[in-house]
Amino acid sequence: MEPFIEQVLISEEIIQAKVKDLGKKISEDYLDKGEIRAIGILRGAFIFMADLVRNIKVPLSVDFMSISSYEDDCETTGVVRILKDLDKPITNRHVLIVEDIVDTGLTLKHLKEVLATRNPASLKVCALLNKKEKRVVKDLVIDYCGFDIPDRFVVGYGLDFAERYRNYPFIFILKPEYYQKPGQV
Ligand code: 5GP
Repeated sequence: MEPFIEQVLISEEIIQAKVKDLGKKISEDYLDKGEIRAIGILRGAFIFMADLVRNIKVPLSVDFMSISSYEDDCETTGVVRILKDLDKPITNRHVLIVEDIVDTGLTLKHLKEVLATRNPASLKVCALLNKKEKRVVKDLVIDYCGFDIPDRFVVGYGLDFAERYRNYPFIFILKPEYYQKPGQV
């Protein structure tokens, strides 16, 4: 095992089985609706998005948005800054937001509000990971959810710490000494 891994939380096999399952559910739900516009939230969701769309068997197009949360003492404030907006309008489209992880829920709440103003035909969310313990937005609906996880900072399968570890096909917790930004060590 890599020296920086404290614990593998979700293995590659379990992730892949869940992604298949989510794709099947989404395919069934959208069978009669028409084309899905899947919106991947960069950068954390890029691997999940790539695997998920390959398991969705209804007509689908993709678009991407890159956002960053304004931070206040390292906590997200929920105010989302759009770094890269969608390339195409979503008016009258069945939009499916594809997110890596929901924590306080502030980012997703704000994102949903922004996209709702653009008059999609429907707006749903698929998130791979759900950390419920620190949830601030109590009534946030995650239509398709992969795993509920404890309140630990996780990396891998697209998720990073200081831009590292996105390339590992499983989700894991780093050893404490690796939570150092490059240059701080
Ligand atoms: P929220 O606004 O729900 O508190 O934060 C959501 C965002 O915080 C996620 O999209 C992700 O970028 C980041 N985040 C929250 N928890 C984790 C975590 O455990 N690992 C990583 N890599 N990012 C996280």
